[in-house]
Amino acid sequence: MKPGAQATRTIVFPLWGPNGVKNEALEQTQALFAPLVAFYVSVLLREQGLWDKVPQRDRQTKKVLFDPETGEIRMRKPTADEVLTRAEAVTVKTRAHPNPPYDLKSVPGAAKAPVVFRRAAIKRAIGLVRSHRSNLARWERRGRRGRMPGMPVVKSFPVTVYRGLGWIVREPLRSFLKVKLWNGARWAEFRIPVRIPERAAGLLAVSEETRARIEAVLSEARSLERAGRREEAKAVRKHLKPLPWEIAQASITLYRHLDGWAAHVPFVRNVPVSKAEDQRRARPGIPVTTVDLGENNLAVAAAWKGRKIAGTLFLRGAAHERRRMRRLAAIRQRQMASGKPTKGVRSNRRRWVRLTQAEVDTARQIARRIVDFAKAHGSRVIVFEALSRMPTTRGMGWTRRQNLRRSWWMRGRILNFVRYMALWEGILVVRRDPAFTSKACPRCGAYGERFSRRGEGRGPRHTFRCPVCGWEGNADLVGALNLKKKWDRTFPPLGPLIAAAKEAKKLKTAPAMLEDKGAVRCAANAG
Ligand SMILES: [Zn+2]
Repeated sequence: MKPGAQATRTIVFPLWGPNGVKNEALEQTQALFAPLVAFYVSVLLREQGLWDKVPQRDRQTKKVLFDPETGEIRMRKPTADEVLTRAEAVTVKTRAHPNPPYDLKSVPGAAKAPVVFRRAAIKRAIGLVRSHRSNLARWERRGRRGRMPGMPVVKSFPVTVYRGLGWIVREPLRSFLKVKLWNGARWAEFRIPVRIPERAAGLLAVSEETRARIEAVLSEARSLERAGRREEAKAVRKHLKPLPWEIAQASITLYRHLDGWAAHVPFVRNVPVSKAEDQRRARPGIPVTTVDLGENNLAVAAAWKGRKIAGTLFLRGAAHERRRMRRLAAIRQRQMASGKPTKGVRSNRRRWVRLTQAEVDTARQIARRIVDFAKAHGSRVIVFEALSRMPTTRGMGWTRRQNLRRSWWMRGRILNFVRYMALWEGILVVRRDPAFTSKACPRCGAYGERFSRRGEGRGPRHTFRCPVCGWEGNADLVGALNLKKKWDRTFPPLGPLIAAAKEAKKLKTAPAMLEDKGAVRCAANAG
């Protein structure tokens, strides 16, 4: 039993046009934050030693682990906190390090900045440099194909306000963001009016209860400590451990949008869930939803009650695809019209960014519909197909390669969104091996045929037919049906399927035999 998985959900609270002193404080904080992030980005890029691996240790005994084969110490990548400690050691003056090699004094207002402010900046810098390093490593691994990943650019940055230093407070007439801001000389608290989005009201109420409970526990513990009753205080503090289903506001990020400021508030919920496999064993007929993510953003889901289908969901994304094609056409046209590559590239960059944003939005919408569907059917688990490695695109034309890459990315995005949204509802996401999910007959498990029907009225366009048992049905649904078998562990053995696939491939290369359905049947029967 895993008692506390944590789910997060971020909600945007627009601030009511902070003016005067409050706006100034926000501006100052941001103006001080960005250079501090930039400073640490340059330190983290230059000092390779900050990223040195550390020996792996046993969780319980804390002893260093050795590789049984080579006898060498096992190493792991440092955590963000470990990198942060190292970065502070080379930049912050302490008794242990009186002359750090990098001087924070070169950054305005940074030397005296509160520790939490500095750490927020370092963490942001670590995130940027880490993703740069992994992009660079991937580029090297792929034989330096394509453009070299650019250096992280630091211009203006949303400010992270650490947990406990900022939170949303509801009051009868108005609601506020209570926040501590750093202006270079002073660390002051402000109350900035916010607009409460409708979907946030319920979360806020629960989060306030959580907060009140935590504060009550803390004040009791403190008063016991003041009275010298240490042991009792310790016992009281134990109640601070997260409860199931409580909701807390985590570190807020302050964004400057085009039309003003906004606070992005992640709400954290502790979800009591046990491992999917344990749930399945304990209750084999547990309601699940299986989802097949096809190409072209097509998602097909089936909700199961025991062995029966309780509902299906088809998401085709055709409208999105049309929008995307229009956007792409606009970019192409501009590129041709401008003639000047530099100017064209720059103005098109914004269009590309918007295009990507639209894709992310689509993935989010598809994910939301999948999760709502699973929730409506009472599913405890959502079963996906594991994403196989990005297929090789060598030898493909530009358009096909782009389409393949895009659909691959899109599936990854949808999967991530679903995992994140589902956990909030206490629904787990698991993945199953993708082999033959869309190729095996959902009834008898033989290797089947897929074909497209055109102009034959209202039936499904993509059809699946089993040469062995004769099952015929919507090809798009086959994946979702077979994923249920993979979840139940009743999917047919792969050996015969592989043999049948090989046989089918042979047939494809010899078109004269394609008409001979008997051969396919034989191959499928052979297994
Ligand atoms: Zn069959």
